[in-house]
Amino acid sequence: MKKLAAAVTGILLILLITGLQDLSENQVRAGNESDEFEYEYYYNDTDNGEDVMDSISPTGNPAAGNGAGAINTAPDSIKVFVNKEYSLPEDYVPDNLIMPDIKFYSYDVPDKRYMRKEAAQALEKMFDAALDDGITLYGVSGYRSYARQKEIYNSNVLARGKDETNKVSASPGHSEHQTGLAIDISSYALKGSLSEEFGTSAEGLWVAKHCAKYGFIIRYPKNRENITGYSYEPWHIRYVGKKTAKYIMKNGITLEEYYGYIPSKSSKDEIISDAQ
Ligand SMILES: [Zn+2]
Repeated sequence: MKKLAAAVTGILLILLITGLQDLSENQVRAGNESDEFEYEYYYNDTDNGEDVMDSISPTGNPAAGNGAGAINTAPDSIKVFVNKEYSLPEDYVPDNLIMPDIKFYSYDVPDKRYMRKEAAQALEKMFDAALDDGITLYGVSGYRSYARQKEIYNSNVLARGKDETNKVSASPGHSEHQTGLAIDISSYALKGSLSEEFGTSAEGLWVAKHCAKYGFIIRYPKNRENITGYSYEPWHIRYVGKKTAKYIMKNGITLEEYYGYIPSKSSKDEIISDAQ
């Protein structure tokens, strides 16, 4: 009988100790993710050791010393650079497209709901975290094929002519949506629309503040139109991996600046939107 009592006491003690350890681990985790520790968290985060970047170089050239290296043009890389001057091959289709398990505002067009697996999984985590904070996000438009972009572009040309189309629509091969790493998101209040208002909504503010933690950047920020060539699009987020995203968002720069890319004059003159 004594032996049994001792065994039960032993088991209870083990359970108590394990419970306490779990509690303390949770407390540490919660502390690291609080706003107060946000920057510390950024620099101590080694979960994606793709590259290590500590600060913008003293020369003021973000390309120097940030580990970015040359402009990445490999279509399959999560850091691929696509804009009005850099395009993807016509036949490029990401080989690991999946449908993220998130809410979409509309389920009419299934083709718009795909993303590359790595980005889709990161997006699921981000949408879940938002929900924990009482923020409901909706996916609107993810992967877009070269053929689909061509269709959109050509129908715009028919409706409004080439010059006007070039102001509102990316030409085929030049849309980031073809990478499978970008998605447009919205809110219920905005009825799934893609508008600048998203940037000042509770949902948009949450995304801007937290997206880097999940590997996403606001690809076309405000007041950077002359660098990106795109109008401000708070709804368009692009997956680049955590390290790069944190570097870009913390320093308030664009992917263009990250790579030290200098836009040509024509690229500067025509500010477009990729909403269509
Ligand atoms: Zn977009």
